[in-house]
Amino acid sequence: MRREIRFHMRMTQENAPYDADTRRKIAPVICYPTDTLSAADVPLYQNARARAELVDEVTVQPRDAAAILVPAGHMLRIESIEGAQVGDLNLFAADNLHERFYSGKTRALHGTHVSIGDRLWSQFPYLRPMATIITDSLAWYGIDPYGGSVHDVIGTRCDPYTGNLLSGTQYHHCCHSNLTRALAAHTGIELPEAEVLVHDVLNVFMCTGFTRDTGQYFMKASPVRPGDHIEFFAEIDLRAVLSACPGGDCSAQHSSDVAQCHPLLMQVWKPQEADLKGWVSPPLNGYNRSHGVNT
Ligand SMILES: [Zn+2]
Repeated sequence: MRREIRFHMRMTQENAPYDADTRRKIAPVICYPTDTLSAADVPLYQNARARAELVDEVTVQPRDAAAILVPAGHMLRIESIEGAQVGDLNLFAADNLHERFYSGKTRALHGTHVSIGDRLWSQFPYLRPMATIITDSLAWYGIDPYGGSVHDVIGTRCDPYTGNLLSGTQYHHCCHSNLTRALAAHTGIELPEAEVLVHDVLNVFMCTGFTRDTGQYFMKASPVRPGDHIEFFAEIDLRAVLSACPGGDCSAQHSSDVAQCHPLLMQVWKPQEADLKGWVSPPLNGYNRSHGVNT
């Protein structure tokens, strides 16, 4: 155990009040029970997927990113090809780059890792489902003995700034830079404008958790194998941008050219219109945005 952790634990014990254990034993409550959320009609989406046709695809090269448009009511498939590889996913409303995926609120609503039936939510003031997960070939993984699981919304994205802070490096193929380049190329906006729109990601196929003793964010070799996939139903018109992380399967390190990396495949599938009967794209959030002024 590191010296500073031992020191911290000793201090914690020394300063503990007489009823410390009683306080620790108070049962937790779920912050955001989701029973009042209208549940996604996953069987409807899955049935529609069965008769859908492939209409577009792009291969994301290793240590690079690519973007694709996914019309509302279509499905986005992300597939591991060639070798174990994790991906960092950003989602934007296709016609409004300010409506972006909100990993923090998605985490608060659905937990640290997402799978079938969970929805990916957009930022304020939009806060509506952007996509719903309908297929996940790694759903069997569950939570491992280390507390690790797959497809997290707890990481941010590997980036050159943290690398510079910790190691003084100038590395240009972190997911943050990959996403920035791909968003700029796909939309025609300038690199600095694209960079500030890149946001915390859904870590597709990545296996992560927090250490029990120190609470630190950890990663471990992804269980993903070629053919594994995750599929999303697009609730609104989406622009999906995916980076094939320079960490490869994230078993050892990222933010360098050391790890073995592989491409990822993004596909768009179009269902038969009749198969989505009853589905409507979700409206913007209903909060009136007065923030208590003039109400
Ligand atoms: Zn990365």
